Amino acid sequence: MDAARTSAADIPSVDRLLNEPALTALRSEYGRSAVLDTLRAHLEQLRRALLAGAADPMALAPDTIATAVSERLAATARLQLRAVFNCSGTVLHTHLGRALLPNEAVEAVGMALTHPVNLELDLKGGRRGERDALVEERLCELTGAEAATVVNNDAAAVLLMLSALAARREVIISRGELVEIGGSFRLPDIMRQAGVKLREVGTTNRTHFADYAQALGSKTAMLLKVHTSNYVIHGFTASVAVSALAPLARTHGVPLAVDLGSGALIDLSRWGLPAEVTVRDVVALGADLVAFSGDKLLGGPQAGIIVGRAELIRKLRASPLKRALRVSKLVLAALEPVLALYRWPERLPERLTLLRQLLRPLEELQLQAQRLRPRIQSPLGADFEVLAAPMSSQIGSGALPQHELPSYGLLIGAAKPQRGSLTALERALRALPRPILGRVADQKLQLDLRCLDLADEEAFASQWALLPMARGNSRRSTEDS
Ligand SMILES: *Cc1c(COP(=O)(O)O)cnc(C)c1O
Repeated sequence: MDAARTSAADIPSVDRLLNEPALTALRSEYGRSAVLDTLRAHLEQLRRALLAGAADPMALAPDTIATAVSERLAATARLQLRAVFNCSGTVLHTHLGRALLPNEAVEAVGMALTHPVNLELDLKGGRRGERDALVEERLCELTGAEAATVVNNDAAAVLLMLSALAARREVIISRGELVEIGGSFRLPDIMRQAGVKLREVGTTNRTHFADYAQALGSKTAMLLKVHTSNYVIHGFTASVAVSALAPLARTHGVPLAVDLGSGALIDLSRWGLPAEVTVRDVVALGADLVAFSGDKLLGGPQAGIIVGRAELIRKLRASPLKRALRVSKLVLAALEPVLALYRWPERLPERLTLLRQLLRPLEELQLQAQRLRPRIQSPLGADFEVLAAPMSSQIGSGALPQHELPSYGLLIGAAKPQRGSLTALERALRALPRPILGRVADQKLQLDLRCLDLADEEAFASQWALLPMARGNSRRSTEDS
């Protein structure tokens, strides 16, 4: 075909193309209508390019057309939600789905997806049941509370408590606890949404018992304490403990609700992590309701759990909002086996994925970094320098923000300033079949290996050869050696 004379009339017909062997094969893989639609869209694009004088005559060859159609079909067949490698150094990364769940949860979710289940059926009585009942007993046992309910997330838990128990009345909260949690959870906004009147007391850094006592009155519906999980105020500070507020709330006949956020079910200091207040502690100190997340320190699925006095939990369940915020069978299926693991705390570090990640020995991380370093250096070639280096991970999601976990990983820099672009590398790592997500700091790409499971190490290492900047490098470096 002569480039000068190529015109739209030279595009092969749809019928002819459909009978090309390559397209026949695609038809048996994707079905006739998908192939036909994709082929037509591709030919239309070619036609426009030809009219604009921008088409390569080779693009009209049936084989080239078949390859283009095959690539388009493969791209639309690929699912959007994909596994990635979290090398960000943040273990509970909200953008990456927070806690990873243990196998027991995976199996239970698989069962619930493929079988009818007793979600709202009381198997003993044969009557309609309450879905909370699937996990309520375990939650009560683990926290010392009388009753429990589960909603979509902790933000929903706070919204439900406020809306069901305090609508159109006042909720007293310390100015130092009017928090914003990442992703637009702002306490004053939630209060407005719940139709609650916010009664701020104290100052940003100091709130005293008398501030609460003076604000309490006939309009008060609730005292709310919020765990300031994602920041710390240092210096001249004062706040009032749950143990001091509980008797005050009781005297006035209003509930004391606590939003704990990260919500540890067990004292993590026994494994050398900082001592975070547990849900059981807060219940024991006299809180009437305690709300916390399922996918933060608990290590379970996204959920908002509320435990506390039976009479208050009953009111929450009776609210129409509870129906709107309720969790699916998949969440309950995943949550129950995670809670069950807590019955045997000594074994949690092996069995609860989150705890295993938080407690990985530094030596194991260092060995992993040293094993991987040459395997990453080789495909990257001479433009980049890869080092095994110490770094520090954080728990994330506002849990223990001050605490740094000594870690190890790969530190990648441009070998010389004018060579290898880190921005291009970071983008190429995101475009891999299983994207690798690190953190750029101080002109280096940091890949923290804390969340790279040993079983995933091979899959991680083998992908680097697919990077555009790896073309030819692996071969060259093997020849060199
Ligand atoms: C994280 C957090 C929330 C929000 O929890 P989600 O489960 O993400 O909705 C609310 N309050 C506090 C104190 C938190 O730390």
